[in-house]
Amino acid sequence: MDWIRLTKSGRDLTGLKGRLIEVTEDELAKHNKKEDCWICIRGFVYNVTPYMEYHPGGEDELMKAAGADGTDLFDQVHRWVNYESMLKECLVGRMAVKPIAAPKEISSTLSEEKKQLNGMLPEKKVLGASARDLTPSYDWFQTDSLITIVIYTKQKDMNAELVIVDCEDKRLRGEIVDDHSYLVEVDLDHAVQEDVAVNIAEKVGKVEIILKKKDNIHWKMLGQALESHNTFIKRTERGLFYRKCKLVSKTEVTHDTKLLCLMLPRSTHLCVPVGQHIYLKQTIAGTEVVKPYTPVLPFLPLDFKEPPRHDGAHLYLMIKMYSCGLFTQALDHLQIGDYISVSNPEGNFKKSQVQTSEDLFLLAAGTGFTPMVKLLNFALTEVGCLRTVRLIFFNKTEDDILWRNQLEQLALKDERFEVQFILSQPAKDWVGKQGKISSSLLSECVKRSRKDSKVLICICGPTPFTEQGVQYLKDLGYSQEEIHTFTA
Ligand code: FAD
Ligand code: NAP
Repeated sequence: MDWIRLTKSGRDLTGLKGRLIEVTEDELAKHNKKEDCWICIRGFVYNVTPYMEYHPGGEDELMKAAGADGTDLFDQVHRWVNYESMLKECLVGRMAVKPIAAPKEISSTLSEEKKQLNGMLPEKKVLGASARDLTPSYDWFQTDSLITIVIYTKQKDMNAELVIVDCEDKRLRGEIVDDHSYLVEVDLDHAVQEDVAVNIAEKVGKVEIILKKKDNIHWKMLGQALESHNTFIKRTERGLFYRKCKLVSKTEVTHDTKLLCLMLPRSTHLCVPVGQHIYLKQTIAGTEVVKPYTPVLPFLPLDFKEPPRHDGAHLYLMIKMYSCGLFTQALDHLQIGDYISVSNPEGNFKKSQVQTSEDLFLLAAGTGFTPMVKLLNFALTEVGCLRTVRLIFFNKTEDDILWRNQLEQLALKDERFEVQFILSQPAKDWVGKQGKISSSLLSECVKRSRKDSKVLICICGPTPFTEQGVQYLKDLGYSQEEIHTFTA
């Protein structure tokens, strides 16, 4: 908030009195000190010196890209942050050289091409033979009332979670996401109705996006290709796409945590996979602010015989409202019926990590419980070889425990599941475990059910909690492959 105030103060943050300049590589390199630090991100150069003291990661992190291209570093750490909005008052200008960076990883044939500044996407993709074989393609056809776009993904294990479709004001965006992203992005020739259907032939990897024509006329073409149409790039290189979702309910979970239910537009097809998060975006005091949240289920299903039916229309978010939180205070002020922007899902958890596990341990602190909700549901419903699932849930006080009742009921209902609550600031009458994450506590709670059973330990909470947890687990002999940390 202090940074936002400074950007609104009218102070000249670039030292250029409002002028924008063309910056050469040599010029950029000269501004490499804390008191005079320029950084290039995606072809735009920012004077980040005034921002140094506000950067959550500290000055040293920013200085790693001083006088240079920080795009890769930025993308690695927090590509979801809207730097254009955060740093707009620090914009010095554009790089003088228009970059033609080679597409990373897709094509080995281009590796000798000079890596240019800025990390901007290449204007034209030239793929090597092997990449071309994997590149999805699309086609379309029409009937009197329907337009069907068919995407041949060339992937055998297609499923609904890998397909994201949005259609708003004639603008159709269909994305197939995995480690790579294939995009169909078209300004449609004519208007279509709001509801969009998506059919997936999982075995053959064929995806159909079915649109209903508004008027039953013959379309001469599908529409105009937009900038990223028909591109196939690394997923992390694709910008996050947002759609506006309506807040339909807000219910209390604890004294400071609420369950928000957001409704996706009818023309959106989006399922957030287990272990992944989305980003919410709001404009606060004129600046776009983005924060990650992990969708949960509306409640913990107690009957795990059948996988729950997918309700693609709603997203449930369990969010702790911090009394001094910039984003959560604004969220808390949203009224039922208000809209908020929701991004595509991100995250590196793979269901296959748990599919072969016999013992699953979930270490959660506070709202670090949120990724565990879908994971618990998935594990108890769909992982046949699981013998034990144990949630070790760290909170300050009893009042902070999220869904305590539901968890206790689930433990009674399903003998594979056990929950243990550990409080760091318990009341005098607390008879359960108390303390913080520690080596002795973990050696007591995390144990293989058999000497060589396959184990997965998932951990989520405040960063120091997660880091300490990982270290203790390694000290106890668990390998990196047996531990998954949820992070942004
Ligand atoms: P800020 O303005 O950033 O901070 C204000 C004050 O709030 C801080 O001084 C501190 O006291 C407190 N605070 C803020 N952030 C944290 C934090 N991360 N840890 C401890 N104290 C903090 N939160 C949820 O409630 N539900 C989720 O499902 C969820 N999912 C997440 C998924 C990922 C991948 C990550 C990285 C974070 C997730 N978070 C979740 C945290 C969320 O992104 C925000 O950090 C949080 O809502 C606080 O934002 P804020 O702007 O209100 O607080
Ligand atoms: P909290 O209530 O402040 O803390 C929960 C428990 O963790 C408490 O027992 C607390 O003990 C302990 N704890 C806090 N900081 C610790 C530390 N440094 N070392 C050891 N134990 C610590 O937690 P919260 O406010 O709900 O925050 C939840 C966190 O989870 C946030 O940081 C959020 O960003 C993160 N989160 C991440 C993801 C994700 O990455 N996918 C998803 C959801 C949430 P004390 O009494 O000592 O404070």
